[in-house]
Amino acid sequence: MSFGELLRIAPGTKPDLAAIDPASTPGFDGDKDAAHDRLKELRHELTSFQERLWAEGRQSLLIVLQALDGGGKDGLIRKVITAFNPQGTRVIGFGVPTEEELRHDYLWRVHAATPGKGRIGVFNRSHYEDVLVVRVNELVPESVWEKRYDQINDFEATLAANDTRIVKVFLHISRDEQRERFQKRIDDPAKHWKWSSGDLETREHWGDYQAAYADALARCSRDHAPWFVVPADHKWYRDLAVAEILVEAAREMDPQWPEAGDDLSSIVIPQ
Ligand code: ADP
Repeated sequence: MSFGELLRIAPGTKPDLAAIDPASTPGFDGDKDAAHDRLKELRHELTSFQERLWAEGRQSLLIVLQALDGGGKDGLIRKVITAFNPQGTRVIGFGVPTEEELRHDYLWRVHAATPGKGRIGVFNRSHYEDVLVVRVNELVPESVWEKRYDQINDFEATLAANDTRIVKVFLHISRDEQRERFQKRIDDPAKHWKWSSGDLETREHWGDYQAAYADALARCSRDHAPWFVVPADHKWYRDLAVAEILVEAAREMDPQWPEAGDDLSSIVIPQ
């Protein structure tokens, strides 16, 4: 079975997150060094895919990254997403909405940030926050967030129908691993800037977040926009698994070099 098949949430099924071990390494029985070697190969393939995607200029790739605080989104971007040429790639972080964003519907800022033809967009957090933090912190009533799952499915179906391939990844870490990573942030002055007191608040609501994630994954994993749950306690496995999932998507997208506009066979480059 491929990584994608192993880690994908089948449409219409609800994942039992408590039963997925964040320290497990599904589909890989090698060690950390073997994972690094394989990642190098995958990065090469992602680099050449992106060149073809750009040259072809017909399709887009949207990668949605979600995780609890400390889940490793930033590390993943550094280790895997950097395989793509920055000229054709944009990483967009979604934080607390600005006043202007709040004056619009919650998908307004998201739609504006989707990748154009030939481009790759990486959402570091996304419209899913509108059924996660918004639900857990009761920022809007249930009657409002409850309708958003269908709205998100419709929105993503529109993107997919317009040649955007969507890959959604939830980095699944354990409570113990989160504690260790938070502790490192506190112990290491070079990591202090990463610390936010809000991080502890999300830890207090751990159970609510797990429930909100399980609903989002269950209700919004679709053939055209699947969710993947990646066990992420081991950073090396996290990077490897996401790279494998992206390579699978890249192979299916299979962008083609465009034909040359002119007949190049008769061109002679002057001395
Ligand atoms: P990150 O933690 O991803 O590195 P930040 O430190 O900028 O990035 O945190 C972004 C914060 O914005 C998170 O606490 C997240 O819950 C919050 N956020 C994102 N989207 C929304 C939203 N739609 N409504 C409220 N808060 C949001």
